[in-house]
Amino acid sequence: MSRIRQYGTINTLIGGLFDGTFEFDGLFESDEIGLGAFHALDGEMIFFDGTCYQVLADGSVRVADTKGRTPYATFGSFKEPRTFDLEGIDGFDVLSGRLDAALGDLNRPALVRVDGRFSRLKTRSIHSQSKPYQGFTAVVKSQEIFERSEVEGTILGVRFPEYLQVLQVAGWHLHALSSDATFGGHLLEIQVDVARVTIESADSFEVHLPDTEAFREAILPIDIHAEVQGAERDPTRSNESD
Ligand SMILES: [Zn+2]
Repeated sequence: MSRIRQYGTINTLIGGLFDGTFEFDGLFESDEIGLGAFHALDGEMIFFDGTCYQVLADGSVRVADTKGRTPYATFGSFKEPRTFDLEGIDGFDVLSGRLDAALGDLNRPALVRVDGRFSRLKTRSIHSQSKPYQGFTAVVKSQEIFERSEVEGTILGVRFPEYLQVLQVAGWHLHALSSDATFGGHLLEIQVDVARVTIESADSFEVHLPDTEAFREAILPIDIHAEVQGAERDPTRSNESD
């Protein structure tokens, strides 16, 4: 079984604590995959094959400065994953359903990597914020949305059950990067042409909390389901039960 390790919590972001609190240096192993945010929410992070990428709000992608800090990141590695092929998947919800079915176990966190050819990807990134920070929901209103057709690349991420949603995004949280590292971001919508899925449930989940004055003094929001789903899902999608 794999282990998933998390730095920061989603309710610290919802609460507007955007300062980087964990140094990237030494945070992850080269055999891990991961996603997250940067100090002041400057772009979207995607980490795999030993390289940490930063998808900026202007749509450009660069190799991240790993001397920086993150307020929120999740990493894990596969131990005995299941692999299978996907073809002709139309939509984030359809993909989520297929990944859920492959897991079977929806009460443990899970890790996924999808390498393939995507007929369409829709992603977003966020502008670097300055103090005083607004809440995450206000920040997301100015997110930049990107779309590209016929992309070869990698999608990776994590799934968390709803009972952990104070700590993590409930459901699949996926980030994307094209093979040529010119396109990516937080995944909002997807159409899969053909892809290979690597997936595994985790039997342990380790949470690292910030040791900062802001965190010690914060009154962290708890009832955040609607805000998180509103901030992390496609803003144009129909309002569903979640
Ligand atoms: Zn994200």
